[in-house]
Parts: sequence; structure tokens; C-alpha cells
Amino acid sequence: MVMLPNYRRCISCRRVAHKSAFWRVVRVFPSQQVQLDQGMGRSAYLCPQASCLQIAQKKNRLGRSLKAVIPEEVYHILWQRLSTDPASANPTADRADRTMESRTVEDSSTPAGSTASTVAQQATSESIS
Ligand SMILES: [Zn+2]
Repeated sequence: MVMLPNYRRCISCRRVAHKSAFWRVVRVFPSQQVQLDQGMGRSAYLCPQASCLQIAQKKNRLGRSLKAVIPEEVYHILWQRLSTDPASANPTADRADRTMESRTVEDSSTPAGSTASTVAQQATSESIS
């Protein structure tokens, strides 16, 4: 170990933290395959944050750090992790109580054959000329 044991630096924001706080991207030796989390070889560390992932992808920090071409799949997996991890997702997850639509239970079962009584209105106004 050359550095402080188990401390690594984010390739995007250069924050130093314990390696368990980072994502690890490894270019495996000697196959040169780039993969996540496991493997022996040259590795880069990245905060599990959208901002750092974005920089790593857009500015190719990951590729430069590993001196390798990073497959789209690697980014895809990381973005997916970001969206599925509830801790790093947007903290505005508290949902307001939804107002339940009050159902009006209508109990208007009219029996068949009910005749409506017609009220005959008698015209009482006679026009006298
Ligand atoms: Zn970072």
C-alpha cells in the first residue's frame, strides 16, 4: 500500500475518503477489461453521486484515469445504481398524504314498474276578451 490505507480519491471532485465510500472501477490486468467493484488491476474511485458520475463520463475522467476506454455499460450500471439507491436519491421523498376521493355510495335502487304520477296542471288563467 502506498497511500493511506484504504483511503482513495474521487477522480471527479478529488475528495479523499475511505474506499468503501466510493464506487470502484477496475481495469483488470491483464485482460484490460473494465469492470466494477472487483478485480485486480488499475482502479479508479468515484463518489456515488450524480455530479461526480457526470464529470467522470462527460470529461472522460474515468477513461483517462484508467487509460482505457470505458464501456457504455459501465456508466449505465452506475447511473442505474444511482437511481435505485434510496440513500443517494433525491431526499425529497416524503410524500404528502393524498386526499382520498370520497366516494358517494349511491343506493338508489329503484324498483321496476314504478309509475311516475303525472300531475296535471290545470290552466286557470282564462283570457276574457
Ligand atoms: Zn466525487
